[in-house]
Amino acid sequence: MDVKGVGALVTGGGSGMGAATARALAAAGARVGVIDLSRETAEAVANEIGGLGLACDVSDAATAEAVVKKASAAHGPCRLLVNCAGIAPAKRIVGRDGPMDLADFETVIRVNLIGSFNMLRLAAAEMTAAEPLNAEGERGVILSTSSVAATEGQVGQVAYAASKAGINGLNAPAARELGRFGIRVLSIAPGLIGTPLLLNMPEEVQENLAQQPIFPKRFGKPEEFADLVLHIAGNPMLNMETIRFDGGLRMA
Ligand code: NAP
Repeated sequence: MDVKGVGALVTGGGSGMGAATARALAAAGARVGVIDLSRETAEAVANEIGGLGLACDVSDAATAEAVVKKASAAHGPCRLLVNCAGIAPAKRIVGRDGPMDLADFETVIRVNLIGSFNMLRLAAAEMTAAEPLNAEGERGVILSTSSVAATEGQVGQVAYAASKAGINGLNAPAARELGRFGIRVLSIAPGLIGTPLLLNMPEEVQENLAQQPIFPKRFGKPEEFADLVLHIAGNPMLNMETIRFDGGLRMA
C-alpha cells in the first residue's frame, strides 16, 4: 500500500516510537492523526508534521470512536493504524505487601491489549467500508506494537508480557477475518528501543541493557522502528505475523 495521501492513525503518537512513526508517515505523504493520552504532546507532534492532534485514552470505547470519526472527516478513512500506545509498570506477583493488586494487572491489560483491540475494531470498520486502493484490492493495514516480553517476559512483567502476548494473538483471527477485504494485520515485537521508557532508567542499567542485543550493541532507534512500519505498509506479502525488531536480542 502506498501511504501517500491516505489517512493514517498513530496511537501513542506523542512520544517515542509513535512520534517517530507519525513523522515518517507524514514525510511519506500520509495524512496523520496523532493520538495520545495528552492533548499537549499529540498536538505538538501533529503541529510539527501538519497532522491532526487527538487526545484519547485508547481503552475508552466512546472517545476512541469520536477521534476516529474526527480524523476520518479531516483525512478520509483510516487506511493504516499503528498502535504504539502502551504502558509498562513493573510489579511482582507476590510482593512485600502480599499479592499483586488485581487492578494493577487489569490496568495494563486494559491499556495495552484492550486499547489496541479498541482501535483495531474501529480502524477495521473504516477500512472495510472504504474502496480498494489498488487493483490487488488492498484496503488497509493494521499494525500493533507487541514486545519480545510476549515470549521472554522478565520478573515483574507478568501483566505487560500477557498484554503483549494477547496482541500477538489478535493477528491470526483478525488477518483471517479481514483478509477478504484486503486488510493485513501484523504486530511488531521490539527489543530494547531508545525511547523515554528506557532512557529514563539509571545510566548503568542502560549500559548493561545496551550490551544485550547480538548486533548492533545499542538500543534501537525509534526512527528504525518507523522505517519498518513503512516497509510493512508497502509490502503486501507481509501479513498475520509478529516481526521481531531487536538486533538478535534474546532475553534470558
Ligand atoms: P513511550 O515513549 O512511553 O510512548 C508511549 C505513549 O503512549 C506515551 O505518549 C503515552 O502517554 C501513551 N499512552 C499511554 N497510555 C495511553 C492510553 N491509555 N491512551 C493513549 N495513549 C497512551 O513508549 P515507547 O517506548 O515509544 O513505546 C511504544 C510501544 O512500544 C509501547 O506499546 C511499548 O510497550 C512498546 N515497546 C517498547 C519498547 C522499548 O524498549 N521502548 C520495547 C518493546 C515494546 P504518557 O506518556 O502520558 O503515558
